[in-house]
Amino acid sequence: MTRGRVIVVGGGVIGAACAHWLVQEGWQVEVIDRGEFGAACSARNCGLIAPSHVLPLAMPGAIRATLPMLLRLRGNAPLTIRPRLDPNLFSWLARFALSCRADQAWRSAVALHGLLTESRRQYERLATDDGLNAEWTPGGCMVVYDQEQHWEEFAATNAEIGRHCGFEATRIDAGELTRREPALVDGLGGAWLFECDGHLDPGRLMSAWRDLLKRRGVAVREHCELTGIDGAARRATRILTTQGPLEADALVIATGSWTPLLARMLGVRLPIQPGKGYSLTVRRPEMCIRTPMIFESARVAITPFAAALRVGSTMEFAGYDAELRPKRLELLRRAARRYLRSGYDPTGEEPWYGWRPMTPDGLPFIDLAPRYDNVWLAAGHNMIGTSAAPSTGRLICELVSALPPHVDPAPFRLEGRVT
Ligand SMILES: Cc1cc2nc3c(=O)[nH]c(=O)nc-3n(C[C@H](O)[C@H](O)[C@H](O)COP(=O)(O)OP(=O)(O)OC[C@H]3O[C@@H](n4cnc5c(N)ncnc54)[C@H](O)[C@@H]3O)c2cc1C
Repeated sequence: MTRGRVIVVGGGVIGAACAHWLVQEGWQVEVIDRGEFGAACSARNCGLIAPSHVLPLAMPGAIRATLPMLLRLRGNAPLTIRPRLDPNLFSWLARFALSCRADQAWRSAVALHGLLTESRRQYERLATDDGLNAEWTPGGCMVVYDQEQHWEEFAATNAEIGRHCGFEATRIDAGELTRREPALVDGLGGAWLFECDGHLDPGRLMSAWRDLLKRRGVAVREHCELTGIDGAARRATRILTTQGPLEADALVIATGSWTPLLARMLGVRLPIQPGKGYSLTVRRPEMCIRTPMIFESARVAITPFAAALRVGSTMEFAGYDAELRPKRLELLRRAARRYLRSGYDPTGEEPWYGWRPMTPDGLPFIDLAPRYDNVWLAAGHNMIGTSAAPSTGRLICELVSALPPHVDPAPFRLEGRVT
């Protein structure tokens, strides 16, 4: 059965997942990308598949923590905002401030929990049933604290997560941390282990997913940029691209942090800011951590892969800045040297940056574009796009195909979240 032709705009992890579920449901699918499939923010991120990442950045107290960075009182902090006269940035920050309420934050957490838990289940299935070989490894992710007092303090948040979302992290004291992870330096405060998490190699995921999609009949057209949408009576009928016009019965816009640039076409100004992050990938050291971990005070994640080690993080609101800034990369090296017993060997180091599509409330937009009845948005996945991709793809497929949704789509709608 063929339902019609869908064009997915954007070949990141979200576009890949949308294409996966749409082709499975009988749609004829083509993915177009202005660059190369899988080469943008989904390429070299930290690879955490983390149902535990339910807490948005917009939590109570976040403004107090962010203000010194906004005012540049802490120059090279893990989170920086490069001040500039950009009305979209100011409006984004105002919305962020309004979202820093406990009730809103926990509502977002519960909504994300549904998306993330289903996604993790689907990654397990993709690895076993579909043979998607991306080093999928269950086994958790640890959040490591420098000081015992800060480690203890997390217990209250852990209990709140348990109350709202129904899962909790396991307490790992300093002694047990040393036994479990001999590659870490001594003297750390303790860790919390989120056993529900896993990890994979995001680069391998994107190339394996591309192969799988091609085998299932999905066409992938690279260096093809969406430049316009033609249609009448609320229906898009064809798109204009740098490779000429393409006919379509439905469109899915999965253009990550570029999505606000399509505002005029879509009839909506989405509050998404590029949140720039970096990673460094080096050869896997002989003495290597076993579990991926996030170091709380440095705000840096380290992920072990089969042949590599990746150090990643930092968040910079600097617009579409494409420069690999040495100072930001140095923050990552410093963290690796600080926590790894064997230090940090930069031989063959591969630096990378990506623009996370950041929304003020931490939730993605998964909904119809206001001007159309057949143009769908799947964008704004913040720091969890890889983790949340399968469930997003499945939900988009259900919405496009008018099937009952497997998660409540209401929290991801545009209503009340855009002007
Ligand atoms: C340092 C770092 C670490 C991270 N770690 C993790 C992690 O451990 N786990 C996790 O879940 N997430 C992580 N993330 C976040 C994750 O990478 C993103 O949320 C995710 O990649 C977003 O996917 P996307 O498909 O929306 O965007 P992208 O991967 O950026 O894809 C969007 C695509 O749209 C294309 N496009 C844009 N405009 C057009 C147009 N007009 N026409 C055609 N194509 C267009 C672009 O070329 C691009 O390929 C991390 C991010 C960073 C930066």
